[in-house]
Amino acid sequence: MSDFYGELSGELNLGSDSYTIQIKVMHELAITQNVLDIALEQAEKHNAGKVIKINLVVGEMSGVVDECVQFYFGFLSKDTIASDATLSFKRIPITAHCYDCDATSPLEEFNWVCPHCHSSNIEVVGGRELYIDSMEIE
Ligand SMILES: [Zn+2]
Repeated sequence: MSDFYGELSGELNLGSDSYTIQIKVMHELAITQNVLDIALEQAEKHNAGKVIKINLVVGEMSGVVDECVQFYFGFLSKDTIASDATLSFKRIPITAHCYDCDATSPLEEFNWVCPHCHSSNIEVVGGRELYIDSMEIE
């Protein structure tokens, strides 16, 4: 078994925000397909016989539900070398930088003001992440 880091390019494509359940489902299905494609491509590059684990980094703003991705992955990965792979999700909180007091802090959900000075002059700097951080293969 071997781990490798930092060579997984191919940031996943996040479409624009989804508003209906149907689009939401397609959103997660497309993301899961994308994850699987990248994992298989990397596994092949490393002459792996099997994908053991895929570590994903998921920002709270990405709108991705872990269980959905897990479900689709089981379905999509059938008959591939990733069919037994475990998916691990690292959630990144929504973080914002405040232009008024210069603080960078996590935001409370749906509370789009700086927690220090309550300014709304903020920019979201974290929480949109969606990528494969690392993989275990053998
Ligand atoms: Zn502030």
